[in-house]
Amino acid sequence: MKKLTKIIIPSYVRGFKCIGGECEDSCCTGWDIDIDKITYRKYFRTKNADMRKEFVKHVYKNENCDCEEVDYGKVRINESKRCPFLDENRLCRIYSNLGEDYLSNVCYSYPRVYNVLDGVYELSLFMSCPEAIRRLVASREAIRFVEEEMALEKHIINSYIESKDKRWKKSAIRRLKELRSLSIEMIQNRASSLQARLLKLGYKLEKISLSESKNKSRDNDPIKVRSNSIFQTGFFKDAIESLQVFSEIDSPFFVEYTKKVISGFRLMEDCPLEEKSQLYEEAIKNIFEPFMRENDYLFEHYLVNSMFQGNFPFTENQDMFDGYLMLVVRYAFIRFYLAGIAAVEGKITTEDVVMMIQTHTKTVDHHKTFIYDLLQDLKQKQFDNMEFISILLG
Ligand code: SF4
Repeated sequence: MKKLTKIIIPSYVRGFKCIGGECEDSCCTGWDIDIDKITYRKYFRTKNADMRKEFVKHVYKNENCDCEEVDYGKVRINESKRCPFLDENRLCRIYSNLGEDYLSNVCYSYPRVYNVLDGVYELSLFMSCPEAIRRLVASREAIRFVEEEMALEKHIINSYIESKDKRWKKSAIRRLKELRSLSIEMIQNRASSLQARLLKLGYKLEKISLSESKNKSRDNDPIKVRSNSIFQTGFFKDAIESLQVFSEIDSPFFVEYTKKVISGFRLMEDCPLEEKSQLYEEAIKNIFEPFMRENDYLFEHYLVNSMFQGNFPFTENQDMFDGYLMLVVRYAFIRFYLAGIAAVEGKITTEDVVMMIQTHTKTVDHHKTFIYDLLQDLKQKQFDNMEFISILLG
């Protein structure tokens, strides 16, 4: 009998199933595909001569391997950025010809994310999978966390934290569980708007963060802005430019959405920033905000999942305010794009939110450097404070 392991899961994970060839943005497109050492070796020992020939052609040893259980080898993706093992129905030929035992650890696990916190497994789903987000937003009810016993199949541990380890003696990480629960509770408290909840959480974490690092103050020079929407428009225009969407981003969805945002707000036209921000402000006021009044559970679930999965507030590093800052930046970035879609289409739908979260996560969160570089830039400009957050959310 297989050994059962105790796992904490958010309620939406139950019943997730990959939709394979039906998926609009398959995880087998646009990404490098990693092969662990054991699977890599199996590929070249298979008795299936046709498949072995294909492995020789498409699979190579990764000279920059970080971990043998993850990226010992790689699949060379073709010019259309697809995995060469996808058939005409977008189904995996390794799976259909050799069985699931031949899937690499990454292919087998995705979109499941396993973390181990204080010896307990936690499982959630990556928001770069559209079907995972559909599960996430299938219910308006607050996400609950439940304990299950599961037989662990092939998997990769994304993070392993012992919060009581002596190395964290002087770090707030020892309070990870307590702070994550508190943050999730505050975001799920529907007595106020989501925006108000996010702000309240920020003030709380700022206070805790200051009390933890006794000699550090976040008092900086005031940020000079003409208006919040002008600041936001300029900020995200710069972010889009630094992503170099049209030359560097493989996701056709993200490219299409970016085109809409650029056209909706006339972002790259030679006109004053005030005019662009006026269009943005109208889309927020007339379309995004009314939609959110009815549907802010969509983002509540997104934020809660991000917090659980990212060991919030230590998602970026040991500084709890950095984790909060980048969570808000991600949310505001998605909101900016949705407002851009609204400006062009005259409406927002739940499916727009699903696809925007998905494509944003696949592009931005899985980008090798964007989030790290942006955080460094914000810190260098001394924007890591609640004044900046209020302007960004305002
Ligand atoms: S992105 Fe999700 S639904 Fe789509 S193919 Fe991958 S696991 Fe399946």
